[in-house]
Amino acid sequence: MDTATVPVLREQLLERREKLQIARADVDENAELLRLLGEVDAALGRMDDGTYGLCDVCHDPIESDRLLADPLVRFCLGDLTPAQQTALQDDLDLAAHIQRGLLPESHFRVDGWEACFHYEAVGPVSGDYCDLIKGEDGSLYFVFGDVSGKGVAASMLMAHLHAMFHTLVSVGMPLKTMVERASRVFCESTLPTHFATLVCGRADTSGEVEICNAGHLPPLLIQKGDVKRIESNGLPVGIFCDETFSASKLHLEHGDTLFLYTDGLSETLDGDGAEYGMERLTNLVSQSHTHPPQGMVKACLADLSAFRAGTPKPDDLTMMAIRWNGHGHA
Ligand SMILES: [Zn+2]
Repeated sequence: MDTATVPVLREQLLERREKLQIARADVDENAELLRLLGEVDAALGRMDDGTYGLCDVCHDPIESDRLLADPLVRFCLGDLTPAQQTALQDDLDLAAHIQRGLLPESHFRVDGWEACFHYEAVGPVSGDYCDLIKGEDGSLYFVFGDVSGKGVAASMLMAHLHAMFHTLVSVGMPLKTMVERASRVFCESTLPTHFATLVCGRADTSGEVEICNAGHLPPLLIQKGDVKRIESNGLPVGIFCDETFSASKLHLEHGDTLFLYTDGLSETLDGDGAEYGMERLTNLVSQSHTHPPQGMVKACLADLSAFRAGTPKPDDLTMMAIRWNGHGHA
């Protein structure tokens, strides 16, 4: 457990203790409340004697994303009883199911725009965020990002971003303001150790795209085989509450495609430890520039799988292709 996280968890435990004590004053002798209070006190006690975050059975550190999701956890994954393991698996299955429900339609078309994506968690749930939202004025908003960390804690923050952007898009504010609001809410509601790299864009009904890249890997703009990188011009969201962002504009011609991806793609390693990298990705999307979004994503997956040749997946993997077909085109 890193040193920045323990004080935050202590703060959470103290807050929980206070709430339990207030609740206790309202009802008399509630056994469940007393039990919870006892667990919180025991966790605070373990923080004081330096044993917090260690498994009761093997004394190895407990997985930190599990502690972030529940600061009262006392056993590492290896030391759960079979009944606890089944309950945990059921929980994760349900979380994965809920997360799939937060994804947009797999083949998304709106007013001349066509989009496809691939979303794959390295574990049961992913910390990547991939979204397509239709605006009130017919424009297409795309939001794409990667929450720091992996697993359950990261997936909870992904769901948080999802809820925020669906609300912000419906209000209809400038793109840069939208990212600034999201960053502030994210910063205020998460641990200081958590942030998210994010690309947020608005594609209008004439082929114009306004785009803001907050610390994310550069999206690629593929125009007839030429590939341009849209570099980040800001920090990731959630680092400072008063961060400001800027957006830039692009104009797409018929058949031009934007390609977005997370580091699960660019940082995949082959058997010799070499990274998949930007150059190989750039060549691949350039060669598949005539493909519709679905074909481009498929070509990328096939190339990545050939490159990996069975090495373990490094991280959650998400990619998305968005093409401007224009009006009256297929
Ligand atoms: Zn253990």
